[in-house]
Amino acid sequence: MLLAHLRPLFPYIKKYRSSYIWGSVCVLLMNGIWVLFPLVIGRAIDSLKTADVSQQMLHTIAKLVGLILAVAGSKAIFQFLTRWIVIGVSREIEFDLRIRMLLGPAIMYSANTIVFTAGALAFMLSISPKLTLYAFLPLPIVSIVIQYFGRRIHERFEKIQAMFSEISARVQESFSGVRVVRAYVQERAETAAFEKSNREYIARSLKLVRLMGMLWPTLETMLGLAIVLVLWIGGREVINGQSSIRLMSYLGTTTTLNLYGSMTVGDFVTFNMYMVLLTFPVIALGWVINIFQRGTASLGRIYELMTERPEIADAPGVVPHPELHGDIEFRQLSFAYNGTTVLHDVNLRIPAGSSLAIVGPTGSGKTTLVSLIPRIYDADPGSVLIDGEPVRDYPLTDLRRNIGFVPQETFLFSETIRENIAFGVQRASDEEVSWAAEAANIATDIEGFPDKYRTLVGERGITLSGGQKQRTAIARALIRNPRILILDDALSSVDTQTEDKILNHLREVMHGRTTIFISHRVSTVRNADRIAVLHGGQIVELGSHDELLALNGYYTDLYNKQLLEEELAEV
Ligand code: ADP
Repeated sequence: MLLAHLRPLFPYIKKYRSSYIWGSVCVLLMNGIWVLFPLVIGRAIDSLKTADVSQQMLHTIAKLVGLILAVAGSKAIFQFLTRWIVIGVSREIEFDLRIRMLLGPAIMYSANTIVFTAGALAFMLSISPKLTLYAFLPLPIVSIVIQYFGRRIHERFEKIQAMFSEISARVQESFSGVRVVRAYVQERAETAAFEKSNREYIARSLKLVRLMGMLWPTLETMLGLAIVLVLWIGGREVINGQSSIRLMSYLGTTTTLNLYGSMTVGDFVTFNMYMVLLTFPVIALGWVINIFQRGTASLGRIYELMTERPEIADAPGVVPHPELHGDIEFRQLSFAYNGTTVLHDVNLRIPAGSSLAIVGPTGSGKTTLVSLIPRIYDADPGSVLIDGEPVRDYPLTDLRRNIGFVPQETFLFSETIRENIAFGVQRASDEEVSWAAEAANIATDIEGFPDKYRTLVGERGITLSGGQKQRTAIARALIRNPRILILDDALSSVDTQTEDKILNHLREVMHGRTTIFISHRVSTVRNADRIAVLHGGQIVELGSHDELLALNGYYTDLYNKQLLEEELAEV
């Protein structure tokens, strides 16, 4: 289970294998050296007691001081190297795969903890197995406490985050809807609701702070208990040890063999230092387990996303079809979103090279209808055809490469304007980019930008107007030189004059290609070869501008209304 969740990391760990090997060597050396530190101190204390006040004693002290400095110094060096290598590598992996919480710290602290604890434990056992047992007696409780607090802290933290997004959303809504709030005299109600959310936020934050405030005292009590036990039992052994037999000697000093449950002062100090030094690893271990659980949970989600197959994919056995002609047909097309039918029995053929405009009230299904052509949604097999073949029978890439689709909501990336236009086209030449910009009537605007085509747009660059964004999106569609161009209300933010220019230009560019555009403006649609009126998911009127006017239906109404608006605007 755990391994399955971690599997996506293996290739990354493999990629940085040599760094991991060097990192492990450093971790081993660092801890191997550091674990000797209490031992050296213990020896130093014992040597003070036994050696005579003499030249030899001074010599021993100098030796030990040198040793202590050497141990501390080399530990520092390896510690630096470990951090540098291990954290550096995991930052690179995170760059490929964002798992900030898990990798770096978790790997380093785990390795540190394991190596150091193993070493310290071995030395502690060699000093006194009994004392070691007492020292570790409270450990299971400590681990349970950390697990408990970790989970609760995480839960409360999530609740705070949720509250914070709620407050942000509320503020944003109140500001953008400030006119409505005023018009309906809701200022007080809004302020009261905002205040209530803020109080809830404070309450939740305080809960977290209280919990975190309890964690340390609880841990310290547990560890204090262990120290009391060790002092009590160990202290008695030291008193016994005054009369113990000294048998072995190394490191230039003496050591005792525990035959009678006794120890020297030096051993006792060493033992206590190990306990203090193990405090952090023990706590870190608890945290690592905690972070690990959370990390694997996030990894699980990332893994799900990475293995998710898009619903709309190539049918098995599709044959490449790089060039489409552009003849579109909807055949007895009905379409529903989760059971709600939005298109009913649509039958329509758009011959290659012709233009079709679609008008109709909001929600009548215009966007849905055109989205079925590049398979943004999938209709029933055989109800949407291009060149007489169901769209599902073409490879998706071939199908979409032939279609320039400009959606209602344009999206520009925080890149240069050139990259935004050439998006998805490999190695577009400067000529092609400026040709597309020209055709979409945005070239003049771009020439006026500080860095022309290299101007950054979006958050880090300049802000484009709604109309400029739409024209950039049209240029993006045109540069692909599509057989089929679909504009979904893509000129709504452009003024009528510019719109005329773009449309005239498009007629030239799209000559011999199929164009479909959705619009609310009669001025936009009147020149199309044919106009379809969509109402309640059905085509209720179809024909040229003049033909539709003669019908005296929806289109005539729309026309008269807009004529009146224009006249009023001129007055
Ligand atoms: P139009 O473009 O004419 O405004 P749409 O095609 O956008 O109409 O929408 C037609 C109907 O389908 C509307 O009732 C709309 O709420 C619904 N609809 C559109 N997109 C979705 C979707 N992704 N999921 C569910 N319902 C949708």
